[in-house]
Amino acid sequence: MSQEMLLAEKLANTHDLSAEELYLLIANRTEETREYLRQKAEAECQRVYGNNVFIRGLIELTNYCKNDCYYCGIRCSNKKANRYRLNKQQILECCEIGYELGFRTFVLQGGEDPYFTDERMVDIVSAMRKKYPHCAITLSLGERSRESYQALFEAGANRYLLRHETATKQHYEQLHPAQMSFEHRMECLRTLKEIGFQTGCGFMVGSPGQTLEHIVRDLRFIKEFRPHMVGMGPFLSHHDTPFCDMPNGTAELTVYLLSIVRLLLPEVLLPATTALGTVQQDGRKQGVLAGCNVVMPNLSPLSVRKSYMLYDNKISTDEESAQSVEKLKRQMESIGRTVAVARGDSQIQ
Ligand code: SAH
Repeated sequence: MSQEMLLAEKLANTHDLSAEELYLLIANRTEETREYLRQKAEAECQRVYGNNVFIRGLIELTNYCKNDCYYCGIRCSNKKANRYRLNKQQILECCEIGYELGFRTFVLQGGEDPYFTDERMVDIVSAMRKKYPHCAITLSLGERSRESYQALFEAGANRYLLRHETATKQHYEQLHPAQMSFEHRMECLRTLKEIGFQTGCGFMVGSPGQTLEHIVRDLRFIKEFRPHMVGMGPFLSHHDTPFCDMPNGTAELTVYLLSIVRLLLPEVLLPATTALGTVQQDGRKQGVLAGCNVVMPNLSPLSVRKSYMLYDNKISTDEESAQSVEKLKRQMESIGRTVAVARGDSQIQ
């Protein structure tokens, strides 16, 4: 048997590989390793989570951002972005529509918008918690203080998504301006976990400057940090950012890495991201076939969808939430999977 197939088998059997082994498994990937890992990852996912695909209703709270990440379309230097904020009532209306459609997790995501102070966020989260006592509330609002995270947790938020973006400091500095700190981002992740959030990290595949060594370090970081969730999608360029001319990440490598993450952490919640669905038409389906078990359809009001553009050509910006969910259900049923009406908590201990 080839060396790469031996490594693929070792990963599937032991759920671990050293950095050197991961490097070889990715560098020397073939059709055979791809299909083998895909099948093993899908089987592992079904063993832990059954046939269920969990849906999360994504509510894009604000596209104001004080940060200036080079890759992101809502960076503060992008003067062409049409800035907006949702208010509490609008957010609760999104939840209402979502609840009717079967969502039991709501995700509030946004730029780092100083308008959303702890007081305002606690008010919003408390209102959601009161109205939906049995739903999960996920936040994805970037870096905040420990006190802030603690207050949001106490107000009723259960989960927090904060992609680490890259586990290599030097690469982090290629993606972010000097005001942002690799150490602080990593510290936030540790704090979130300590507070008791189900915590998600993750990174973009094919981000500018990313090498295979960086990817291997990301995978080893994920294995060691043991997040409850991992968000991983291809980097996609945005025309009004410094990375406008950089090539997009590929669906092929993204899907391969998703299978590897599923096998490294069988119990992890793994979304087939919107970015994957954007780079390839049936990308999210490919993701689920390769070990993903979460999809995050958009619940934001249609009027703001086109303003929350992190990258070009984002899908589902002109489609009612109900329509997206219907489409998704059909797509999942076509591969023998069921969209679950459930919170879908992580099985990671
Ligand atoms: N401000 C929040 C939410 C960020 S948006 C935070 O800091 O966590 C969520 C994720 O979208 C980011 O973590 C990033 O990995 C991803 N993203 C941003 N720009 C992107 C791009 N151009 N292509 C692909 N993914 C991108």
